[in-house]
Amino acid sequence: MSTPKPKDWIMGIAPYVPGKSSGDDGKKLVKLSANENPLGCSPEATAALNAASAFVDRYPDPGSTKLREAIAAKYDLDPARIICGTGSDEVLHLAANAFSGPGDEIIYVRYGFAVYDIAARRYGGTPVIADDKDYGTDVDAILAKVNDQTRVVFIANPNNPTGTFSSREEIARLQAELPGHVLLVLDGAYAEYLVADEDDGALGLAETKANVLVTRTFSKIHGLAAERIGWGYASAEIIDAMNRIRLPFNVTTAGQQAALAALAADDFVAASRKHNAKWRQWLSEECSALGNHGLRVIPSHTNFLLVLFEGEVTAEQANAALLDKGYAVRWLPGQGLVNGLRMTIGTELETRGLAKALREILADAG
Ligand code: PMP
Repeated sequence: MSTPKPKDWIMGIAPYVPGKSSGDDGKKLVKLSANENPLGCSPEATAALNAASAFVDRYPDPGSTKLREAIAAKYDLDPARIICGTGSDEVLHLAANAFSGPGDEIIYVRYGFAVYDIAARRYGGTPVIADDKDYGTDVDAILAKVNDQTRVVFIANPNNPTGTFSSREEIARLQAELPGHVLLVLDGAYAEYLVADEDDGALGLAETKANVLVTRTFSKIHGLAAERIGWGYASAEIIDAMNRIRLPFNVTTAGQQAALAALAADDFVAASRKHNAKWRQWLSEECSALGNHGLRVIPSHTNFLLVLFEGEVTAEQANAALLDKGYAVRWLPGQGLVNGLRMTIGTELETRGLAKALREILADAG
């Protein structure tokens, strides 16, 4: 008997593996595996979420109008050129969907964000991987992969899972040297963790260049990961193409209102950035002090640290031992990152506990 057959390219997709929050035995773990905000979300966003329960029987505003206007006011953008998505994940998928298909090539960097691979393959495109430069984005390696079939380049800046950052000059050079037919997606999921003079100029490029899409999210510094709210900014033509295929009611009313409140919660964002900078520095020093055990920290511009295990204890072993001690971090062999663990910066207690667990694991190993 014949059965429905998925497209070959769909079956070629390795399913996304989310960060763990409980062990195989169901035991609750300290979750430092998904780059969430350890401080939660702002009181303003919580109040908005509670108030939104009054509107559950009505469809949300399909155009996320007020939210787009508030984003535009905050970043000095044109609201008509903003698209809101079910997380920035949706905006990334919409970009791949609108601008690539079978026979087309989509470039991203080795150790890039896992969703780029899924988005590329989902529409029948061919992923093309550009080599990294000591875990960072290598603009020349990307440019070397561009050809007539290239349709999209995905870059996260700062990058996940490496935490590395490419300068404004490097990003501008990439845009300038890419052919006009290639859509450059600059994913700024962690942009709010940058200090002011680290701005990579992405929004400015999207303002003036016809082939740049910037994506941002409310899941990270705003602490609204469960609500699934992201946005993109690009030319009117790019946004129009993506709007034609996005689901009409893709951001919930609660999500729109929580995001609106979050945008105004500057104190919470500043406190989150400060907390992150302090404990990232602390964890980085703790891990660097374990350099005699082969630990190497990749300098991070995000709310997580990538720690390489180049000594006797492998990343896989350290990951298993951390799980035993109740800590979930992220080992990413599926992304080719066999020798590293990505550790989200948690609360003070969580971060101190993680460092202690790591010290014990390495000491036990001799
Ligand atoms: N881009 C990058 C680089 C990310 O790390 C993430 C979250 N892991 C996303 C996009 C997607 O975030 P969201 O869909 O929650 O907006």
